[in-house]
Amino acid sequence: MKKRKGKIFVLSSPSGGGKTSVCECLKKENFGVRFSVSATTRKPRANEKNGRDYIFLSEGRFKKLRSHGKFLEWTFNFDDLYGTPKDFVKKILSSGKDVILAIDVKGAMQIKKIERPSVLIFLLPPSFGHLKKRLKGRRTEDKETITKRLRIAKRELSYSNRYDYTVVNNSLREAVDTVKAIIIAERNRVRR
Ligand code: 5GP
Repeated sequence: MKKRKGKIFVLSSPSGGGKTSVCECLKKENFGVRFSVSATTRKPRANEKNGRDYIFLSEGRFKKLRSHGKFLEWTFNFDDLYGTPKDFVKKILSSGKDVILAIDVKGAMQIKKIERPSVLIFLLPPSFGHLKKRLKGRRTEDKETITKRLRIAKRELSYSNRYDYTVVNNSLREAVDTVKAIIIAERNRVRR
């Protein structure tokens, strides 16, 4: 039988929508998917580790790698650059493993155009009020940043109908199980 090529699963949600928590659960459950670690020019938050949460780069280094075509997709978000390392993702795919990219809507639209097959999953907050509460409760951003992120979240939510699946994040357990079910179904898909 022909060796299976891995699939890209894109997971997006507005800031505070829960995609980091969903990814953390999937990682713990050792579900057989790999996770892309993005590069960013953003400063690390208190609990973040270089190489685990992000590859933290200077703007100059990021732009140099970008000019050498080292990103599968990249975006400018909240005054910083973010990008998916191309070689890392390609290596996972060619080893037959699936990979999850937790990226924003602009990145997702780029992946949808260039990478086939890819599966786009949008994690929806139960309501806009929930999102506000989660972002404030996180205590990792100041008031001005939260206001900015909420404004962007409104725009991002309007992209959800361009995704293959939307998953309402009412409870973390349910959201994780639904994402797992989507991955299992997509692994067994015959054709698109
Ligand atoms: P944060 O700064 O909160 O970690 O991430 C800000 C936003 O950038 C989130 O929506 C996150 O998913 C997105 N993001 C993180 N890495 C990438 C990436 O490599 N590409 C794109 N397009 N977005 C990313």
